[in-house]
Amino acid sequence: MESIWLGKKYHAPQWIRRGYTRICIDESLSPTYLGEPLQQPRSRRPLDWKTIAYLCYIRSEINKLGKLNSSLPNNLRCTHGCAGVTGLYWDSINIYCRSCRMRQNQATLATNHTDTLVSHYFKEELDILV
Ligand SMILES: [Zn+2]
Repeated sequence: MESIWLGKKYHAPQWIRRGYTRICIDESLSPTYLGEPLQQPRSRRPLDWKTIAYLCYIRSEINKLGKLNSSLPNNLRCTHGCAGVTGLYWDSINIYCRSCRMRQNQATLATNHTDTLVSHYFKEELDILV
C-alpha cells in the first residue's frame, strides 16, 4: 500500500505497479484492508472501487494457476527464460515448459503473470504518469 501512495505522490508508475502486484499476491488480504483508510493520514485515500475490482479479478486469475484442473493462460512465459511464449502444461503435479521441458517455479510464474495482468488492467493509470 505504501508503495502505491508514494508512487502516486511522486509520479512513479513502477512503484504503483509493484504495490498492485504485491496486493494481488498477498494471500491474507482482507476487504477491510483494501477498502478502508484505517489509521492512515488524511492524505492517504483508500483505493477506489474500480481499482479494488481489478485487483480482486487479478487475484482470482492468479489463484487459478494453483489449480490442477484449470487450464493455463496461454500467455505464460517459461520461468527458465525460454524466449517468447512457449506454452506450459500440467502433468498431474507440476507445470512444465513445452520448449525446455523444465519444471516451472509456480511462485515465480504467479508473480510474472500478476505483473502482466497489472500492467494490462492498469495501463491507462500507469501510462499517464510516464
Ligand atoms: Zn522453457
